Amino acid sequence: MARFNLAIIGLGFLMVVLVGARTGHPGWDWGRKYPVTHRGKCQEEPKLWPNGVVLYTMDPRFTRSERKMIKAAMRHIEHHTCIFFCHSHRHGLRKTLHITFGVGCSSKVGYRPLGTEMRLGVPCFVKVGTVVHELLHSLGLHHEHQRFDSHRYIKINFNCIKRGHERNFMPQSKTRVLSAGIPYDYDSILHYGRHTYSKRRRCRTIQPL
Ligand SMILES: [Zn+2]
Repeated sequence: MARFNLAIIGLGFLMVVLVGARTGHPGWDWGRKYPVTHRGKCQEEPKLWPNGVVLYTMDPRFTRSERKMIKAAMRHIEHHTCIFFCHSHRHGLRKTLHITFGVGCSSKVGYRPLGTEMRLGVPCFVKVGTVVHELLHSLGLHHEHQRFDSHRYIKINFNCIKRGHERNFMPQSKTRVLSAGIPYDYDSILHYGRHTYSKRRRCRTIQPL
């Protein structure tokens, strides 16, 4: 979860997904199984949805208003990008995003040939931005504050983070994710707020520099 500024999505990291999905990202050599960086290290295989099309299933336990919010979040992403969400009534499929009712709000990152799991609980439906945030994870985007260069822009106060949530703040390796040269965005919908997962009031987990 994070701050819910809807205006900013559609650009930024999302472009990596879109360009990658349609044409291949210019920084990656799509002729190899794993892209190679300028230092010759292997990057993780891109977890992009083929042709930008996301086939999804929805748990029948969602209420009508919850389903409506999920669809509104999808339409929002479609409006700003060339990603297309396509509903399937067949459950248990591979190469599909499975949106299930559960505890908390979470999603695996990116396309997975055996299926990508997303869980949405009741608190995820307070704001549509929370659902957009999770959908963006499913498209292959990581948190903005976990960029490999985040130390230049923010300080993480690990002593303020609730136990068990530390991994949501650890920077990603440069060999694992790409920034595509896009500037750091404090207002990203994929950026946590100052007090997200804080142990105590006034104890900031993220401090802007
Ligand atoms: Zn997240």
